Amino acid sequence: MHTIAAISTPNAVGGIAVIRISGNNAISVAERIFKPFGNQKISDMSGYTCCYGIAHDNGERLDDCILTVFKAPHSYTGEDVVEISCHGGLFISRKILRTALKNGAENAEAGEFTKRAFMNGKLDLTQAEAVMDIISAKSDMELKIAEELREGAAFRKSRICSQKLMKILGDLAAWADYPEEDIPEVEPDKLCRELDAVRKELFSLVENYDAGRILREGVSTVIVGKPNVGKSTLFNCLAGYERSIVTDISGTTRDVVEESVKIGDIVLRLSDTAGIHETEDIIEGIGIGIAEKMIDSSELIIAVFDGSCPCTEDDLKLINKIKNKKSVAVINKSDTEQLFDTEKIKSDNIQIVYISAKENNIEELNSAIQNLFKINSDIFSSVPAANERQKRCIEKALECTDNAVNMLKNGEFLDAVTVVIDEAEQYLLELTGEKVTDAVVDEVFSRFCVGK
Ligand code: GDP
Repeated sequence: MHTIAAISTPNAVGGIAVIRISGNNAISVAERIFKPFGNQKISDMSGYTCCYGIAHDNGERLDDCILTVFKAPHSYTGEDVVEISCHGGLFISRKILRTALKNGAENAEAGEFTKRAFMNGKLDLTQAEAVMDIISAKSDMELKIAEELREGAAFRKSRICSQKLMKILGDLAAWADYPEEDIPEVEPDKLCRELDAVRKELFSLVENYDAGRILREGVSTVIVGKPNVGKSTLFNCLAGYERSIVTDISGTTRDVVEESVKIGDIVLRLSDTAGIHETEDIIEGIGIGIAEKMIDSSELIIAVFDGSCPCTEDDLKLINKIKNKKSVAVINKSDTEQLFDTEKIKSDNIQIVYISAKENNIEELNSAIQNLFKINSDIFSSVPAANERQKRCIEKALECTDNAVNMLKNGEFLDAVTVVIDEAEQYLLELTGEKVTDAVVDEVFSRFCVGK
């Protein structure tokens, strides 16, 4: 494989910048562009050692740098790797990279170093994906999950299931292929029990997926309600500072304002919207249209009602719109005389809470949201699938295992059951990348940054 190079530090000015070179010719490229002080030879250096010297372009001094050598297979990519740490200017780091490219290296594509680590068996696909999760982690919990996946938690679990399926397939094959030998007959009951054990393992990988996703991505949340009920005041209260315009003139919030706020361990990706009601104003009307669409697309709806006014037709329409969604009905302005008849908006699956956004008294709302999206510490006892791709593979494997159990219970031929179990096994191999198409691999690594 050709030798690749890229700047691995951010595309910004900093204390140092690192140019990473990986491939069979990494050492010879480095020898052409770097001269250690003291006449040491780079090719004589052991792995995990560094030296001080100058990077140069055909003798022209570029910068004083530290060069670190990693020898195959003991490197991130599994190939020979050289990292040159120079002063962290954009111009100088790019100049050193260009010099490496002139001297035999090729530009690395996005994620190509990690892709090579995967190709060289240093990481399975779930671990490679976790590298990106570590880079983008925004909280302790997120980082902890990503670290566990990077350590191979999903791979190990999948491997256990895979081995169990392989054993079952082996038993089935032996029984089918050598009927004349003295091989014990495959008992459907025993097979069901073995498959059930696999089911349980797979289920634990997908069951916490939503909790994991919520930790990673947050909950898309929209605040809706008539004008003047206190949506923007609540938004600012949640966001902790004045972000939306608060006035008592109807229709002040015409576009959608967004902010991420943290409630306990849950991040809400919060949108404040134009008040939903009948209006003649075209621009406000567009905002209302967006708000209505956001009810459909959001995971959590915070519907605000004005406790100081009687319930109106608009309020009833709103409750009707959200009653099948995960939502909280917030009766705001609890600091004033209460005229709102909450009986009218009562619905089985919507919790009603009382707050005063103006007085920053929103405890009831915070607790209701945390209850709706319970994330308990159990999430760590079974590391969840990290992304849609992983979830899909596990769900498919689970579905096949379920089918196999049902087929056995219905007394179907073992040949047919074998095909379905084999399919489950294929999905697990796709999960870890042991059997995966180039398109899937390309898609996974295209989400990485250049230099990683
Ligand atoms: P929006 O149109 O729904 O976004 O409403 P705003 O947040 O702009 O608030 C409308 C008016 O209600 C403003 O005068 C706020 O000060 C007032 N308001 C908001 N929340 C409360 C509250 O909890 N108590 C009282 N008394 N007034 C509030």
